[in-house]
Parts: sequence; C-alpha cells; structure tokens
Amino acid sequence: MYDVTSKKAEEFISSEEIRSTLEYAERVKNDGAVIDGILAKAREAKGLSHREASVLLACDDQDRVNEIYRLAFDIKQQFYGNRIVLFAPLYLSNYCINGCLYCPYHSGSDMARKKLSQEEIRAETIALQDMGHKRLAVECGEDPVHNPIEYILDSLDTIYAVKHKNGSIRRVNVNIAATTVENYRKLHDAGIGTYILFQETYDKTGYEYLHPKGPKHNFAYHTEAMDRAMLGGIDDVGLGVLFGLENYAYEFAGLLMHAEHLEACFGVGPHTISVPRVKPAQGVDPASFHGGISDELFAKIAACIRIAVPYTGMIISTREGKQVREKMLRLGVSQISGASRTSVGGYDEKQSEDEDTRQFVVSDTRSLDEVIQWLIDTGYVPSFCTACYREGRTGDRFMELCKKKQILNCCHPNALMTLKEYLMDYAAPATREAGEKLIEREIETIPREKIRSIVRKNLVNIQEGQRDFRL
Ligand code: SAM
Repeated sequence: MYDVTSKKAEEFISSEEIRSTLEYAERVKNDGAVIDGILAKAREAKGLSHREASVLLACDDQDRVNEIYRLAFDIKQQFYGNRIVLFAPLYLSNYCINGCLYCPYHSGSDMARKKLSQEEIRAETIALQDMGHKRLAVECGEDPVHNPIEYILDSLDTIYAVKHKNGSIRRVNVNIAATTVENYRKLHDAGIGTYILFQETYDKTGYEYLHPKGPKHNFAYHTEAMDRAMLGGIDDVGLGVLFGLENYAYEFAGLLMHAEHLEACFGVGPHTISVPRVKPAQGVDPASFHGGISDELFAKIAACIRIAVPYTGMIISTREGKQVREKMLRLGVSQISGASRTSVGGYDEKQSEDEDTRQFVVSDTRSLDEVIQWLIDTGYVPSFCTACYREGRTGDRFMELCKKKQILNCCHPNALMTLKEYLMDYAAPATREAGEKLIEREIETIPREKIRSIVRKNLVNIQEGQRDFRL
C-alpha cells in the first residue's frame, strides 16, 4: 500500500502507485483541460506531484510540450538564475563486490583493480586544484575490505588538507554505496557536502535483476539509504536514476515519489537530482538494457523534473556531450562536471590515465577552461561557490533561501567572486578577458546596492591576491 511517510521502501515507492500513475497519465495525456490545469499550477513555481508531473511527461501535444520547455526555463531563471556550479568526480577505488550488470566494476569483471593511496589522493587533489576545481564528488566501489569507511574518511581528510598554491577543495560530495546510520554520521562529521546515491532503477524487479549479487542486491536497504543518511545528520542528499536501464516513465514517477517521501518525513526534499544515462563501458553495451531514450526525450524528462521540484539542483555529468549539455542547461540543470576522468588516478599526470580502470566512456572531453569559456559564451556564470554548506546553509536552510529567491543576492555574488578567483589563478587569457567582461555586466544585476558594493570591494581584494570571500 502506498504511504509517502512509510519507512519501508516498498510502501513509499509503491509499485501499485507508480503503475496507477502511469495508467492515469496515459489516459489523460491528450486531455487539453487537464494538461492546462497542471501547467497553470506549474506556473506558480511551487512544484507538482508525481502524478501531475507524469501527465506532463506523457503529453505529446507539441504546443503544450513547448510550453513545458518554456516553463522549465522560466523556473530555472527564477530560482537559480544563470549560474552553473562546477565540480569534478574523483575516483578513489574500483574494487567492488557487487554484481551491477551495467557497471564494469562488478565483481565478475576482469577489469584492472586499483585503489589510490593517500599520497596518490594528494597528487590527484593537486592536479584538480591546478585546473581550478573547488568542489569534488568522491566515487568509490563497494568493498568492505578494500574500501572500508575508514578509508573514505582518511581520504576526505587528505583532500581537505591539501593547500596547493591558491588552490583548495572546499566541498567534497560523496557517492558511495548505501551504508549504516553510524557511517553516515561519520561522513557528516568529516564535513561532507552532499551524500549522493543513485537509485539506478526504482523498479524492484528490474533492480534485483540488474544487481544479482552483493549488498547492493537488497532493494529495500538501498532505497531506504537516504532516510538513514538523514538520521545520521546529513541533510543534503542527492538522488538519481541511471536512465536507460528500465522504463523511463516508471523511473520518473519513482524519483519524484522519493523526493516527496523525504520532504514528508524530514521537511526537506533532495538537494540535488542527477540525470545520468547509461554509457558504454568495458563489457557493457547500453543497447542490452530495456530503457534507451532519445536526446529529445531526455530533455523533456529534465524539463519535467525542473517544473516538479523547482528548488532542487539538477546535475548533468560528462557522460553527455556538449550538445546535450547545452540543451539541458536551458531546461533546468544547475550543476555540471568539467574535465572529468572516470579512471582511478586519472588526473595526476605521473599516474597517467589508466583506461583499464575507467568506469565509463565520457562524451565531453573538453578541458575545464574550455568548459568555462563555453559557459561564458553561452550566457552563463560559471560558479565555484561552496559557501552555503560552509555557512551552515544546508537542508531546509538552503531551501528557504532558494524559495525566497534570495539566490540573486547571495549565490550569484558568490559565483562572481569565485569566478574571479578562477580567472586570476587558472584561466587562459581569452577566458580571462571574457570572464572579466561577464563579471562587470553581472554585478549590475545584483538587486541590493549594499551587496553590490561588498562584491566590488572583494573583487579588488581578489585582484590583489586575497582569496576565499563569501556571503
Ligand atoms: N558504489 C557506489 C554505489 O553503488 O552507489 C557508487 C557508484 S558508482 C562509482 C557511481 C555511479 O556510476 C553508479 O551509481 C551508476 O549509476 C553509475 N554507472 C555505473 N556504470 C555506468 C555506466 N556504464 N554508464 C553510466 N553510468 C554508470
């Protein structure tokens, strides 16, 4: 039975509720009055239920689909403005005891295994800092012997401790397998940003087939992980589906039901939603799964997510190429990775990129500076800001700021100051020139005069060598 506040995965992600949602969506998808009613509600920018959003996703009337795209763009502008936050993944170890059929790390694979030492993690962190990164997402296979929680905690300490030239990693998000409340508390105490865990698929039957062995086989333990993370004190959690494995409409409804569950139980929805698509990898052919989706449909999914959860950040990685990313930025994506390496030890030149340990093929292979230049050229403000979490604005405190549309007075100025740091320390001359012009233009859009003058003062300080200003 469906119960949004239940602690049991099969009740808050009830398959009956998802199936009845999909049936309803199919039934009314061409009913103009129903769609227009949902669009009117969406225009209030307070979000939609999984049922309402599923109807929009099913709708194939082109005029109304265009309206969905327009709305997604407007809502993104209202809450997030034109800021795009940048990060990079850091793969610590590909040892894994799970059997995920879509992932080359699975225990039956003959992939070369590698685990970074703390010294190697230091070298990787320096290489990432030298590109200009300030925010990382740590990635790791699940293996209690090779990658115990102590290894992750030591690695976090190592990353945060590296101060190279003007560089520093100021926020580390963590994407590791579902674990216990006690371990989540340890991660929280180690100062992580967001705890990210992709559901992969919300379809329990498909889930069990795709995860035939190892701890990840347990659908309930995996699906209830975010509840445990919240109980462990982590109030910024990141959801995601690996699109392409199972039926996209089922995943979409499940994802929104998961967000509704967190909101109902903890008063705060997910901090981010990631939209990865399954990619080719060693021994993995995406065509062998049931759920391949076109770029057009993928964009529609992103737009409907943006409308359904207006305050949640949306993340797209380098699994997608420039063209798809450009489209997704317009429709709601607020964070992207740049210059990612998905191999273990892929950033430090001395370790040389070892393709044998690569998790999947990336489609966007541009350097971070090329990505920054592209964002500037397409009208976005690249941001290396990490202020909210360092100022304790996590969970519902961040959501309040976002709901009150205070991002323009806070995150936007922080974006400009961190972009200035990037331009001073890491940018190629052309990027620097374009970025300086962008900052000058964007300062004028800060609504409050007092904030504008603080930013101007700090920009001068950064020019003179000081670093790390934030509001
Ligand atoms: N071990 C952790 C777990 O089980 O959740 C972290 C997982 S892994 C390092 C990060 C994510 O990569 C997975 O959650 C999965 O969605 C994604 N992934 C695995 N294989 C992939 C593939 N072939 N293409 C795209 N993404 C993939």
